Order: sequence, then C-alpha cells, then structure tokens
Amino acid sequence: MVKILLMARMLLGTLSQRIKNLVKTNFIIKTTKSVNKSLEKPMKIPLLKTLLLSSIAALLLGLSSLAQAQLKVTTTTGMIADLVENIGQDKVSVQALMGVGVDPHLYKATQGDIRKLARADIIFYNGLHLEGKMQNIFDKMARKQTVIAVTEAIPEDKLIRYDQLHDPHVWFDVALWQQAVDKVANSLANKDPKNADFYRQNSANYQQKLTQLNKWVQQEMAKVPADKRVLITAHDAFGYFGKAYGLEVMGLQGISTAGEFGLQDIKQLKDIIVQRGIEAVFVESSVSPKFIESLVKGVQAEGRNLVVGGELYSDAMGAKGSGADNYIGMVKHNVKTIRDGLLGKAGSHE
Ligand code: ZN
Repeated sequence: MVKILLMARMLLGTLSQRIKNLVKTNFIIKTTKSVNKSLEKPMKIPLLKTLLLSSIAALLLGLSSLAQAQLKVTTTTGMIADLVENIGQDKVSVQALMGVGVDPHLYKATQGDIRKLARADIIFYNGLHLEGKMQNIFDKMARKQTVIAVTEAIPEDKLIRYDQLHDPHVWFDVALWQQAVDKVANSLANKDPKNADFYRQNSANYQQKLTQLNKWVQQEMAKVPADKRVLITAHDAFGYFGKAYGLEVMGLQGISTAGEFGLQDIKQLKDIIVQRGIEAVFVESSVSPKFIESLVKGVQAEGRNLVVGGELYSDAMGAKGSGADNYIGMVKHNVKTIRDGLLGKAGSHE
C-alpha cells in the first residue's frame, strides 16, 4: 500500500513538473508571440493540449496498472491473511474479514463481507468447518471465483477426527500450517504466473522461519515436566498443539464454540485438576472467559491452588502492536504463556 502511494506521488510529481515546464514553454511562446504572431499561435494550443492530455493519460495508466498488478485477496481469519501477506508481499492486497477477538465458528458474513468476497481475485478460507456459518457462501462463490481452503492439501491421516468432522485448528501445529503455506504459494502462482518465482521464493524463506519456530516450540514445551503437560482451555482448539508437542489437552467446550457443555464436564475437569495438581488453566482471546473463570473459582473454593495462566490466542490473532498480530508472534505468545503457566510462573514473561 505504502508503495502504491509513493508511486502515485511520483507520478503526480512528474505531472506537476510537466505542467511547470508547460507554463515555462507557454511563457516563452508568449514573449516571442509579439515577434512572430502568425507563426506561433497555431502551434501553441495543440502543443499545450497534447502535453496535458499525455500527462493525464500517463498518470491514469500508471495508477490503473498499479491497481491491476496487485492480486486482490480476501481471507477469513487473520492467520490466513498473515500467511498470504508473507508470500504475496507487495504483489497482493489482502483483506481479512475476521478481526481481533472474533470467533470464526459463530461468524456470519455481513453484506460488506459479501462485497469484499465478490471483489476478490482469490478467496482463502481455513475449511474443515472452522467457518461453519459461511460454507454455503464459499460453495456458491466457487462457481465463479477462485475459492481455496488452505487446509485442503493436508492428508487426512494428519487430521484429528472429532465426532463426524475433522478438528479445524491446524495452525497450532506449525508443521501442519507449513502445508497451508505451500497451498497458498501454489494458488498465488497459478493465479498470477508471471510472479510465480517471487511467490515460491517468499514461500521458501517463510518456510525456513516456520521450521525454526517449530523447533523452538518443541524445545520450550520440553521444559515443562511430562506429568505437568496438561492444557485446559475454554474450547478444544489445542488438539493439534497437544498432539504435536506432547500435551494432554482438555477444553470446556468441544471443538466448536457453538456446542454446549454441562456441569458434569466441569466436575470432571475439577477432579482432574485436583488429582494431577494442575496449577493453571487458560482463557482464550476469542471465547468468553466466564466459564474458565468460574472453574478457577470452583477449584479455589475447595482450598486448591489454581490460577488463570493467561490469555491464549486461539482462533484469532492479537491486536496491532500486541506482538501477537502475526502468526509467528501469536505462536510464541501462546507457547510462553503455556510454559510459564504450567511451570507455576504465570505472567513471568513479557
Ligand atoms: Zn475454535
């Protein structure tokens, strides 16, 4: 975006320079006019017009080719938008429908969202029923537009089954998210073949960062003793995280926040917390904290130690400037929060 503005300013600068030159030329023509009226007059008007028109045409052409050069991408979650931006960089303009703290399971598209989707050259969504209330829209749009579920290429044996569905929260296993990176890179390259090498190179660079991130998460989780590696959160978003990095994961609600949970579930969780001596449970940025908070109060009322270990970014990234406003930052925040909470040192980082 900044680049477009700069280029537009450069074009405008060129235009105003041309006008200045024109005025100068005009002035010279005017001063010489008295010397040879009949020769200069018919020359002056067409010259002025041609110069002005060509400047305006150049400006419009420049602006429209800039706008055309960028692929318009609309995504559902911020995590997908961040992925597309890392690979597409200045060749794409990306809009995410779901902002900070938005729960994708319950999200319904507005009229404005439908317009943003309809305008897009490519639509990327998570799939696996994460955007449970939007699937019909994607199916309909796919008849005319390029609509891609970034989880599409992940082999079924890597997915966690949950009742009749698959768990959609694949971004918590960095290695699985890397497959979504490939999917996005290939899709951008297919849509915009002249920049295919650019997308593939950016993808390779980003993959390196994610490989390092994955190693780091493994190292940090290994710092928590095995019997303490129990992650209790508001909903079952961390199944892939637990599977990849060796934690038992329990959520108050099921895989989607659309489900209900009963008192029986709370009682079971309380028993587990007491038996295992778990010191911290976690709230999530996109889910109301009230159930986790009432669980903590219930356990504390029995004279046991339990704290809210901090807020995890589960289905949405953090606000701009929070450090968790990009995928890598989000993962790091979560891992540090979980590590410190489970080690009984909640809130000791940052
Ligand atoms: Zn979720």
